[in-house]
Amino acid sequence: MTMRLEKFTNQCPVAEVSWWKYSSYLLCPQQYNWKHISRKSAPKDSKINAVFGIIMQKLFERWVNEERYENTNNGIDWMRIAAENELYILESKERIPWGERDIFRPAVLADINSCIEPCIQQFIIMGWTKNTMSEVPIEADWGNVRIGCRADFIIQNKDGSVWIVDGKGSKSTSYTVKEQVKWNALCYHLATGKLPDKVGFFYWRKAKLVQVRGWGAEEEKKFCDVTRLNLNKLISGNFEAEPSENSCMWCPWRETCEQRTDMIRDYSSKDNLPSMTSTIGDGDNVESDIVAM
Ligand code: SF4
Repeated sequence: MTMRLEKFTNQCPVAEVSWWKYSSYLLCPQQYNWKHISRKSAPKDSKINAVFGIIMQKLFERWVNEERYENTNNGIDWMRIAAENELYILESKERIPWGERDIFRPAVLADINSCIEPCIQQFIIMGWTKNTMSEVPIEADWGNVRIGCRADFIIQNKDGSVWIVDGKGSKSTSYTVKEQVKWNALCYHLATGKLPDKVGFFYWRKAKLVQVRGWGAEEEKKFCDVTRLNLNKLISGNFEAEPSENSCMWCPWRETCEQRTDMIRDYSSKDNLPSMTSTIGDGDNVESDIVAM
């Protein structure tokens, strides 16, 4: 029998502060303001990792939610066809500029096709079929703010334990923002009254699950204290720019932002220009904090 969390089966209304919004505030309050409040127009980005991650998530969301793992070949052929359809959908939404499509399409489909089978096998080995829900909307009141997220995967194990897992399209497990799964776990805890037992990431390119080490009530308390301070700043309208290598690297306004230009000028004048093309910016290094679940 398929396990379902009845509480989550209805679509929730849009959260006042979702992870998507909160994470951009963490990167830079000014970036948050431009993205979510003043809605300043930004150039379209077509990062192959982002499209790869969106499609892999969509495939496995359908695979578990529509119970396609019941198919004789566990859905590998179905996934390959569905991947092409999902890519067409993203193209029709103009997530990929016209000029890049001829190069982009074969590259992203080759990536996806090489990852489908190992990921399916790993899901089956871990028993993530009937006990998993994907793309789960969660909302909860937390003091004066309503927070929310879409959890990539919620796994309810037979022993009653619950894992919150986020799918990752990145090539490396070294730079991952731990805060996202902690945010999702907090939403789950507030909505259901149960503290998730484990939080972690599933890396599509490696078919590998890693766990954020040390997760528990104490870690959640620390996370809540910091998050509460940041939310209070956000709600009070503090949108001061906080340029840094980390925050500006992935900002769509990085080429035109005065504060970033000032930061680079400052570094240049000190003959200490930071590398703006490094991998810094994809999050904090969690390699030492993750272990196989
Ligand atoms: S370029 Fe940097 S400082 Fe400017 S808005 Fe973006 S993240 Fe903030």
